[in-house]
Amino acid sequence: MASKFQAPRGTFDVLPEQARARGRLEQAAAAVFSRAGYEPIATPAFEDTALFERGVGKSTDIVRKEMFTFEDKGERSLTLRPEGTASICRAYLEHGMHKLAQPVKLSYLGPFFRHERPQAGRYRQFHQLGAECIGTDSPLADAEVIMLLSDLLAELGVPGVELRLGSLGSFEARRAYLEDLKAHLHAHEGELSKDVRERIDINPLRAFDSDDEGTRGVMASAPTIVEQLEGEDAEHFEEVRALLDAAGVAYAVDPTLVRGLDYYTRTIFSFVCDRLGAQSEVGGGGRYDGLIEQLGGKPTPAVGFAAGIERILLALDEEVPAAGRDAFIAVADPELRGRAMALAVELRHAGVSAELDLAGRSLKGQLKHADRIGARRVLILEADGSAQVRDMTTGEQHAADPGKLVEEMTGGES
Ligand code: AMP
Repeated sequence: MASKFQAPRGTFDVLPEQARARGRLEQAAAAVFSRAGYEPIATPAFEDTALFERGVGKSTDIVRKEMFTFEDKGERSLTLRPEGTASICRAYLEHGMHKLAQPVKLSYLGPFFRHERPQAGRYRQFHQLGAECIGTDSPLADAEVIMLLSDLLAELGVPGVELRLGSLGSFEARRAYLEDLKAHLHAHEGELSKDVRERIDINPLRAFDSDDEGTRGVMASAPTIVEQLEGEDAEHFEEVRALLDAAGVAYAVDPTLVRGLDYYTRTIFSFVCDRLGAQSEVGGGGRYDGLIEQLGGKPTPAVGFAAGIERILLALDEEVPAAGRDAFIAVADPELRGRAMALAVELRHAGVSAELDLAGRSLKGQLKHADRIGARRVLILEADGSAQVRDMTTGEQHAADPGKLVEEMTGGES
């Protein structure tokens, strides 16, 4: 029964058997966030295009090539959100959250959209979970958000994870460094890939991310900002590292680490997983002390992370078995269907998962169906008003008081 329609390229359906592993992940994330005081926030799936141009940065791949942008009927340009932080900062300002006790600690989970070339672990609609800690420049906040993600990955049992840590320094330090980097790239222009060469003056940091062999050679001898960090930037980085050391969180300092968004300052980090092939990053983030000001607010330091739900699920590669049903109510006579329905509802109210036949099957057909859906016990309502309880694992069957079936199922706690 194939339809002529298919899910659009780069998107996917989450089928019930896949939703179970996803549900486990979402519950674990909600628990990690709530234990650390990161309250949930939800923002719209689309925003004014200008928010992302301003927030994510016009020179980034995301804004240049990957946004799903459209005009509404009022000719306003809107964009399906490619990431969460700009929207959350917009909401922070729009709702005057700077008046709340700082920092404001928020968490989110939902769909995001990027027009990328689809491949394993890279989709056009994907899901991220993330956390933002807004209103403090303390290195404690950097360490806290890093540990949130590290705890979540550990709790889920994601194998082969490594944390890479870097720093981009403050905006001023970065500006000076970028001049050095551009000079280095210009001096080796002939060895760079076309893409990197064209972007030397727009986004030189991305050269560190290139797969091109010539570019990689040039970058091996490029100056890095981590080795140039000084003053408060150096101290901040030192403190973040000391806090992670004290908490026993392993990491590798990666002076070549860069991220695809323009708003980062100081700390950046990336969790990579060796089970994932080319798209190896499960999550990452960093500090973005200039973003809220960039969006029109007062200077407000902040730090956060986002992790890809599909990437975590790919790395886990696990099947969570169906929960099965506590009870299936079978009827020996179609006349008893109303009673069966009432009993199912009563059982559900008592916290017992219960189903009944909705397709007019024979008694034999109902028992077969009960087995297929993994019912642990079948309550059979007989035509003479009596009832039987059959244990589907042992096959044992006994007569039961038809007025006490709920008690039978709850162990008398009804
Ligand atoms: P970013 O917002 O680019 O920092 O990405 C954060 C995380 O989201 C990454 O580490 C990935 O796990 C995930 N991610 C980003 N883009 C995609 C995509 N196109 N498909 C699936 N996951 C993605």
